[in-house]
Amino acid sequence: MVINHIFKEVPIGLCHFDLELRYTYINDWLAQLNGISPENHIGCTIREVLPDVAKHVEQLFQQVIDSGEPHLNGEVTAETPAQPGILRTFRHSYIPVKSENGSVTGLSCVVEEITDLRKAQNDLIQAKEKADESNRAKSRFLSTVSHELRTPMNAILGFAQILGINSSEPLSENQKSYIDHILKSGNHMMELIDDVLELNKIEEGKLSIHFDQIAVDKIIDDSVQLIRVLAQEKGVEILNKIASDDPPMLWTDGTRLTQVLLNLLSNAVKYNRHGGTVTISFEEISERMLRINVADTGIGIPEDKQQYLFEPFERLGRESGEIEGTGMGLAVTQRLIKLLNGNVGYQSNENKGSTFWIDVPINCERNTSAMSGSPS
Ligand code: ADP
Repeated sequence: MVINHIFKEVPIGLCHFDLELRYTYINDWLAQLNGISPENHIGCTIREVLPDVAKHVEQLFQQVIDSGEPHLNGEVTAETPAQPGILRTFRHSYIPVKSENGSVTGLSCVVEEITDLRKAQNDLIQAKEKADESNRAKSRFLSTVSHELRTPMNAILGFAQILGINSSEPLSENQKSYIDHILKSGNHMMELIDDVLELNKIEEGKLSIHFDQIAVDKIIDDSVQLIRVLAQEKGVEILNKIASDDPPMLWTDGTRLTQVLLNLLSNAVKYNRHGGTVTISFEEISERMLRINVADTGIGIPEDKQQYLFEPFERLGRESGEIEGTGMGLAVTQRLIKLLNGNVGYQSNENKGSTFWIDVPINCERNTSAMSGSPS
């Protein structure tokens, strides 16, 4: 019969017991798992064939027979005659077999070995725990070192400033330029320390985010104002293209979004050319998302370096150039925008310019009179 053929060939263990828990049927697959021929099962109890397995399942068998209810997808770890001394894990289901009048006449079992699956899962859990612990250790280390560095750096910067402005002991022009170097490098180092601390805070989930209704035009205007001085110094024009009479309200954290915009705007200015432009605009890409574009006419990013753009400390070949940076801005930006339930992306052509965009959730209640509460 076809069904017998399927039972014989299917790669899963099947067997049947009578009410005394003696095998009346077993397929080849299960007999092989047990390490005993099918014939040597028939008529024997599970305790006689698989004493270690029996310790775990006999009670369950009885329960299924007494209740008439199946027991599905249980798990048992035990030794078998096929591999003495080795613990193996099986997933098993027991189904009561009933006569026409509803009384239980026996028990059918479906058995599957999942030793390798469980081992792989346990290995994965252990590897993850190990990785999490070393990540926590790295975060603690970075946080401690950064805090410890701030105190002496503050002293170095403070005394360098005092030397520079001390009129009773004026410095020579040479000495003044040395002090400028100390201040410039010291400030750069402080920026680096602050960025490391910020990134660490984000990765440890310690950054607090306060969502609220924020007007997109206002936040763009404020960010552009903050970047104007840098743009003037670099001879870069900022074009603020807010092309809507009814700009949507965002559902975001204003401080963090400003931080993200400032990162993108300052990069667009820093990596630009004298006489270049930075254009900021936005568009609604769906009912729920607004895209803010920051496009520059700058030096662009070489294609082979773009994959490292959001990695901390990566400056993509600009580390030896004149443009200052820590390589942390985009790493922080990417993590922040994720916390704001948005996205960041880019498109760049070397020597032509780059466009960075961020998607920010729109406050879906913008057209109602409600001015507080969470979005629908
Ligand atoms: P930083 O500017 O402090 O180096 P970021 O993380 O903000 O760090 O940027 C990483 C790198 O990506 C920069 O060093 C630069 O090489 C490149 N980059 C970022 N934005 C732009 C841009 N608008 N145009 C060209 N290169 C950019």
